[in-house]
Amino acid sequence: MLKKILIANRGEIAVRIVRACAEMGIRSAAVYTEPDRFSLHVKRADEAYNVGADPLEGYLNPRKLVALAVETGCDGLHPGYGFLSENAELAEICAQRGVTFIGPSAEVIRRMGDKTEARRAMTAAGVPVTPGTEDNLADVNEAVTVAAGIGYPVMLKATSGGGGRGIRRCDSEEDLLRQFDRVVSEATKAFGRADVFLEKCIVNPRHIEAQILADSHGNVIHLFERDCSIQRRNQKLIEIAPSPQLTPEQRAYIGEMSVRAAEAVGYENAGTVEFLLADNQIYFMEMNTRVQVEHTITEQITGVDVVREQIRIASGLPLGYRQQDISYRGYAMQFRVNAEDPKNDFLPSFGKISRYYAPGGPGVRVDTAIYTGYTIPPYFDSMCLKLIVWGLTWEDVLERGVRALNDMRLQGVKTTATYYQQILKHPEFRSGTFDTSFVESHPELTQYSDKSRPEDIALAVAAAIAAHAGL
Ligand code: ADP
Ligand code: ADP
Ligand code: MG
Repeated sequence: MLKKILIANRGEIAVRIVRACAEMGIRSAAVYTEPDRFSLHVKRADEAYNVGADPLEGYLNPRKLVALAVETGCDGLHPGYGFLSENAELAEICAQRGVTFIGPSAEVIRRMGDKTEARRAMTAAGVPVTPGTEDNLADVNEAVTVAAGIGYPVMLKATSGGGGRGIRRCDSEEDLLRQFDRVVSEATKAFGRADVFLEKCIVNPRHIEAQILADSHGNVIHLFERDCSIQRRNQKLIEIAPSPQLTPEQRAYIGEMSVRAAEAVGYENAGTVEFLLADNQIYFMEMNTRVQVEHTITEQITGVDVVREQIRIASGLPLGYRQQDISYRGYAMQFRVNAEDPKNDFLPSFGKISRYYAPGGPGVRVDTAIYTGYTIPPYFDSMCLKLIVWGLTWEDVLERGVRALNDMRLQGVKTTATYYQQILKHPEFRSGTFDTSFVESHPELTQYSDKSRPEDIALAVAAAIAAHAGL
């Protein structure tokens, strides 16, 4: 088993990894850049190292991070999500310097990080793939020809894209001509690669993804699926496990296809296979070769600790479970509480958290790195807290979500919490039949009254804290 892990990340996922380490008797070492000096992950890890004044550079320099791991006696490195988590070079340098990278091999990261290459590998393995181009597009003329063959609407996508960026739906040839250069320049800027390709646009699909675990002894299992159809601008807001809108046959098929996908590329460690579902057809979209933001809901329904499994697999241990040992119970739902103002086009709302009161009670879990008095720096993602609820039935999880969001108090910045309550109350969402167009087709849900939150409770909590602190 690994003895000491360098966590090459920040915020809530770094705290999550510290927690896994603590339970496993593994020492944890955090890194932080200057603006993150007061982040909770720095306080929670056993050791913490300053990696520079620049807000981002220290989190994005593979050579320096691995050198630090070696210097500080770490035998493992966990990349979290975002940042360098899908950077093959980091895995390579780790291998060269004798540090165990907690994730798949550099070769698999490289192959799956290239969306056209991943699509080819899946086609060869017999996994159904969204119709589209075999390879990257040479230029806009090829795009126009290919799109005419596929039929509009089409999706123009960055080959190395991620985080919902570098994707544009094009409804006509004029639209494609207008968007092409934009996507190429966005891809170059955000991902350092200009390559783009085309896919058929699946109209109003569900986003269904499967969590898989694969060890170094050839065992591959899945931990069922997550429904991430509640998205805004291709970014997930609310995730649900299992999907409330699958038949048992669809569930079994998606599980089978995700295991096949992982086996086809010799996958090792935790990963996610993402599909679109429409008209009883599933289409492979991409594979994420890292821990996912929403791994939490899979943990809540299966009882399997995904981060712990990642560390065990990287340590060379076989999976402790066979497929038939894995079952799930109830429903779990995760709300990505973002520091954004839903009433103002989701404009980021950074700043000091004047009051934070955590929700609790049965079936409630919070993964966050914020606390009262913490200032959310403007340099990073706006997600500041993950609220996860579990319930035995779909109705239970809906009610628990409303209640837990109501319990939570987060003041000083605007958040998406009240907006999520509006979604939870919407009949279409409650009926369990929604697709990726839900958020965009219900703009009225951002028009809630701020009075819909009982501020009297907020004031009472604030007054209680103030009285206790003798303020
Ligand atoms: P998940 O698939 O786990 O839900 P997201 O797509 O929301 O994850 O991405 C998690 C984080 O990683 C976000 O901060 C996102 O902006 C970032 N991210 C994901 N992929 C990339 C990428 N290829 N390049 C840069 N940032 C990325
Ligand atoms: P990323 O790497 O940024 O996560 P994905 O390829 O996973 O990008 O796509 C993100 C989201 O964009 C999907 O969850 C889906 O909502 C939408 N999307 C992507 N491809 C298509 C498609 N071909 N048809 C319809 N929607 C799509
Ligand atoms: Mg994706």
